[in-house]
Amino acid sequence: MVRKTLIAGNWKMNGLLEDGIALAKGVAGEVKKAARKDCEFLICPPFTLLTSAKKAIKGSKTMLGAQDCHFAASGAHTGDVSPVMLKDLGCQYVIVGHSERRTNHFETNELIAKKAEAAINAGLKVIICIGETEAERDAGKTIDVCTKQIMGSVPEISTAQNTVIAYEPVWAIGTGRTPTTAEVEEVHAAIRKVLAKKQGRANANKMRILYGGSMKPGNAKELLALPDVDGGLIGGASLKVADFMAIAAASK
Ligand code: PEP
Repeated sequence: MVRKTLIAGNWKMNGLLEDGIALAKGVAGEVKKAARKDCEFLICPPFTLLTSAKKAIKGSKTMLGAQDCHFAASGAHTGDVSPVMLKDLGCQYVIVGHSERRTNHFETNELIAKKAEAAINAGLKVIICIGETEAERDAGKTIDVCTKQIMGSVPEISTAQNTVIAYEPVWAIGTGRTPTTAEVEEVHAAIRKVLAKKQGRANANKMRILYGGSMKPGNAKELLALPDVDGGLIGGASLKVADFMAIAAASK
């Protein structure tokens, strides 16, 4: 089963105009040089940089994504951005359900499923994030937590074409710590089993599951070589062109 590797950068709330444009241009230039047919590249800058990043990556195969969206197409939602707006300005992807949104903005599985469904209906692809906290892992609840998150936040209309799952242990995000490769593979394989129950085996076998959480050039090779790891969602290391591209190079 061939699942094309996806290397996705989550810039989070980082980047003013000048630096953001330089980073997007830098990635685009390297993506062009790398000329990979087996790997897709995605950058997800903050909303404020989407338009300029779109211009900066023009002509390279780098794709553009946002980090969140509302579920409504328009209306009285001060401060929110709709999936239709993201599609309109040239985004192909949107991340939903990142643990920082689940925690800081109290987002529930139900809300995340609504956002994902709206984004898919607007013609975007979604990256739906799931993952356990350290307390949940210590209590042996990792697979249970991920199963509940998949059942609750992946909408019925999700397919391998419009949905990517990102497994991001909360305790590994931005900490420099990662699970062992055996632990990562165990969770990814369990996620695929749950997806098979929910959406059918054929779909689950084709759906990409990214690993996220302190992925760096130094650990990317072993993580990306795992059978059920189909790419990475990269935070900190996506803010440096060389690191982001070194991670991608490790997936060859
Ligand atoms: C993330 O927040 O999606 C992430 C994976 O962050 P980091 O790579 O910095 O751990």
